[in-house]
Amino acid sequence: MNILSITAHPDDEILGFGGSSWVLSQQGHSVHHFILSGDVEARRHRPGLNELANDIEKANEIVGSKFELADFPNIKFNTVPHIELVQSIEKVIEEFQPDWVFTHHPMDLNDDHKHVSNACQAAVRLFQRKPMKRIKAFYFMEICSSTDWSFPIGYGGFAPNTYLELGEEGLNRKLESLSNYRGVMRDFPHPRSVEAITGLAAKRGGEAGYKYAEAFQLVFQGLE
Ligand SMILES: [Zn+2]
Repeated sequence: MNILSITAHPDDEILGFGGSSWVLSQQGHSVHHFILSGDVEARRHRPGLNELANDIEKANEIVGSKFELADFPNIKFNTVPHIELVQSIEKVIEEFQPDWVFTHHPMDLNDDHKHVSNACQAAVRLFQRKPMKRIKAFYFMEICSSTDWSFPIGYGGFAPNTYLELGEEGLNRKLESLSNYRGVMRDFPHPRSVEAITGLAAKRGGEAGYKYAEAFQLVFQGLE
């Protein structure tokens, strides 16, 4: 299968899907990450562009995935016309022909995540507008320090109903990949700490009878 994640920032693809990338790529699936902002201007704690490019490459290599970058402005996705985000995602969908698509939850605290989720919801309907391979399933993922930091204001938060077992190795790959991204990991009790990410993987695993898991919210599925 072709499996595509669509996220706003470098590191989101690993925070939300890093362990699953490793497990699915080891099963022989092709895992591709489309990251809409390769621009680091607004990330004061982050390294320069060349260093970030190296970090992205190494982080994805560790979990067995490929990636593609666009240059939408970091923390300013609200200044980009919705149609431009949709079309950039549609282009990748047409090229990669995914079976499964994963993106941000629309209630994430991070505003870029909301915009990517909304654009992705429009873009995944592409197969119903023009002849191409059907997208079989569409999921929202959880990004610690964004999905968990959203406020309960009435739209319904992340509701996991799909779990992918990571095991020790999947979790270790995820942590190794994240530690490779300079400036991402923090000390506990920050959600982006080894302790909190391990705890979340254990909690999600416990919900589904797995030893460590990443959780997703399935929002569309076509059974054949
Ligand atoms: Zn992000």
